[in-house]
Order: sequence, then structure tokens, then C-alpha cells
Amino acid sequence: MLLERAAPAATGPLRATAREPEAPGPGMLLLRVAACGICRTDLQLCEGDIALHKSPVVPGHQIVGRVEAVGDGVADWRVGERAGVAWLAGTCGVCAMCRSQRENLCARATFTGWDVDGGYATSAVVRADFALRIPDRFDDLAAAPLLCGGVIGYRSLARSGIEPGGRLGLYGFGASALITLQVARHRRCRVFVATRSAAERERALSLGAEWVGGTNDRPPEPLDAAITFAPSGDVVRAALRAVDRGATVAINAIHLDRLPEMPYEELWWERRIASVANFTRADAVEFLAVAAQIPVRTSFEAHPLDDANVALDRLSRGEIDGAAVLVP
Ligand SMILES: [Zn+2]
Ligand SMILES: [Zn+2]
Repeated sequence: MLLERAAPAATGPLRATAREPEAPGPGMLLLRVAACGICRTDLQLCEGDIALHKSPVVPGHQIVGRVEAVGDGVADWRVGERAGVAWLAGTCGVCAMCRSQRENLCARATFTGWDVDGGYATSAVVRADFALRIPDRFDDLAAAPLLCGGVIGYRSLARSGIEPGGRLGLYGFGASALITLQVARHRRCRVFVATRSAAERERALSLGAEWVGGTNDRPPEPLDAAITFAPSGDVVRAALRAVDRGATVAINAIHLDRLPEMPYEELWWERRIASVANFTRADAVEFLAVAAQIPVRTSFEAHPLDDANVALDRLSRGEIDGAAVLVP
């Protein structure tokens, strides 16, 4: 499914195209795609909130597949093995960020489904050293939503500075937050969920949230940290009002509508706003192990690959139950 130029999801921006799979070059794997999760970032790319890096591009960065061919120099992957591919497609490996365990900040990083073709396809060619091993506990469809929402939610937890047992606010409750909540509960955190949707509030309670409310409702106690998932600066401000002195609000978003102006006293007392950008391979490996241990339950609805436009449109209208996963 190719994206040539951005357009509203309702108009069907993706076009089905037939193309021969490429042979994998040195260091690369050719994967037969078994499932690819749809992320909100894909929607933002398709609708033009995020500028295209190449056109046409095959979107999709939550790929679960089987290795069909390995390129020269690949020693640790065999044909037939299952591999996961996420947002980080590659990094330079030599810059100061890459050499200090911060490859997520590499200025020459490339991203799956943005700089290189992704997983809304029957096959994908990916860097072998960025492919992930997925725990056996998860089948292909259940594993797909872990690869972006799960991994980046996991990094957001770290960026928020929440301690085990602490009071954590989650603002917005889509595919990423519902995985993040399960990890937080596993760490015995008390979780407070703010979302407009009644169905999402119900789901948050069923997964162990202690309190649910609207975005501007004040939780019953000040929070030790919060993570915002909605692409809205007003939500960041609401979270900031709900956190205690010294607390951090981590913004789990690649795109935000704007940052609203606010009185400095809302930030004072050493409150912090932190953005969350991408993830490192170490984050992904650590998260997948924790997810298997808990074990995290993902909820998803499967759509045939040909119906990618339908699934994107459902996501844009807030109708997706958990995460949407495309199946070729
Ligand atoms: Zn994503
Ligand atoms: Zn680098």
C-alpha cells in the first residue's frame, strides 16, 4: 500500500500496487510480513500532519514477519525465523549520541515507513541489526501493537521518572497507554487515567486504573508523574496542573498541535516537561522481555492489508478498539 501524497483518511490516501520484492543487500533481511500494526504516526503521515520524507512510501512500523532471505554478512538471522521491526530502521552508529546509548537521538537515524519502506506490504527489506526477536508467548497479531505503542510507552515511563509504587497519570488512552498501564501496574504504580472516551475509561478500570476522569478533571491526589498520549498541547497543560512539585510530564508524541502559553507558576516548583523521541534497541529488547513476563495483553482488531484505508479512517474517527493490525 503506497502513500504518494497526504490526504484525509476518509478519502483513501493509500493505493494498492504490485511490486516485486527486492533481494536483501549486505546486512539486510527480506521479511515476509505476517502482520503490521497501525500507529497514530502512520495516520499523521497519511494526513499530512507529519511531512513525507520520501514519496511514494510504504507506511507501517510495527512489522512482524518471517525471514525469507538474508543478505551478505548477516550471521545471526536464519531463514524462517520470526523477526519484529519497529520505528527505528537504522542509525549511524558513530556519532556522539550513538556512542552514548542514545541512538534514539541520532541525527542520521532512519525510520521505518518514513525514510524507508515499511510494513503495509506483503514483504519488507530491513536492517538485520535493527530486527527484534519477539518472545514466543505472543502470536503475530498480538505482537504487532507491542512494537511501537508498547516500546515507546515503555521509554515514556522511564522519561517520566515514575518510581515503583508511585502515582502515575496517563492522559489519553489508546493503543500505547493501555500497554503502558499494564507495565506500570506490574511495578505497583497507582494509575490515574484521564480520557474523554467512556469506553476507554471502562477499559482502564478493568486493567487496574485506580481513578478515571476527563482531561480537565483533577485526580484526587497530586501525581508523581504523568504521560500524555494525545497530540494536544492543552492536554500537556492539564497534566502539568495535576502533577506534584518536582514531577515530570512526559509527552509521548512525535507531533503536537502546539504548546500553549501558560503562567510560569504552572511549571514552577521544579516541574518538568519532557519529550519522548523514538527508542533505542536496548529499550525494545528490555520492553519485550518485560511484556512477556507480565504478560502484557494487547487488544487489536485485524484488517486485511487491502483495507488499510478503512482501518486508517476508523483510527482517525476514534473507532479502533485497542490497535488496528493489517494482515496481508
Ligand atoms: Zn508508532
Ligand atoms: Zn548516530
